[in-house]
Amino acid sequence: MILFQQATGVDSTHIDFESVGQPIHHELCAPWLHLKAAAADAGLNLCIASGYRSFQRQLTIWNNKASGLRPVLDEAGRPVDWSLLRDREKLFAILRWSALPGASRHHFGSDIDIYDPSLLPPGCRLQLTREESSGPLAPLHRWLDGYLASSQCGFFRPYSSEQFGVAPEPWHLSYAPLARQFQGALTLDALAELLEGTDILLKPDILANLPEIFERYVQVPWSRYPSAA
Ligand SMILES: [Zn+2]
Repeated sequence: MILFQQATGVDSTHIDFESVGQPIHHELCAPWLHLKAAAADAGLNLCIASGYRSFQRQLTIWNNKASGLRPVLDEAGRPVDWSLLRDREKLFAILRWSALPGASRHHFGSDIDIYDPSLLPPGCRLQLTREESSGPLAPLHRWLDGYLASSQCGFFRPYSSEQFGVAPEPWHLSYAPLARQFQGALTLDALAELLEGTDILLKPDILANLPEIFERYVQVPWSRYPSAA
């Protein structure tokens, strides 16, 4: 049960909030520092933009988007006209960019969004977009491509291509030895029960579509995990 509560961001006893400056799983600190050192050897300043996120935080993001308080973008990055959408359409519009509370891999603490601040043009804020990844941050991603393929470091990109429902996120890294156990603990039935007892907007449509959501947006295919880690 504790593994499920940690997998859904309800419990944070697995998180080290201080050691590396961003909250991550305490067992991720050593592998992370190892990866960071390897990047430094290649002249890169690998940093974490976002690590662990709690269920409550993801719920706030979700409810702000569902209520129209926070803009939701379409595939071209333009704000969607919220008043024109039905609830089911709102649900899938949000899911393209934001995880369902309880189903974000950032709850695991084994998953991080990374960047290199020294590659960003002066005055530019980090955006974590595909344009940025293939633009100013391209040297970092080229190095990661090679390192992840050859090092058996345990890190991989769960959202590397479009075939899975989530938009590609090359900046999102997952540490397989830890992530595997949390993903295994995150079952459809337990997630449904958690959300049923939560004050979440669009709840009827979430529950009615949960099997599809789970398959398309939550359950990263096990074949994506590196076999050696
Ligand atoms: Zn991420």
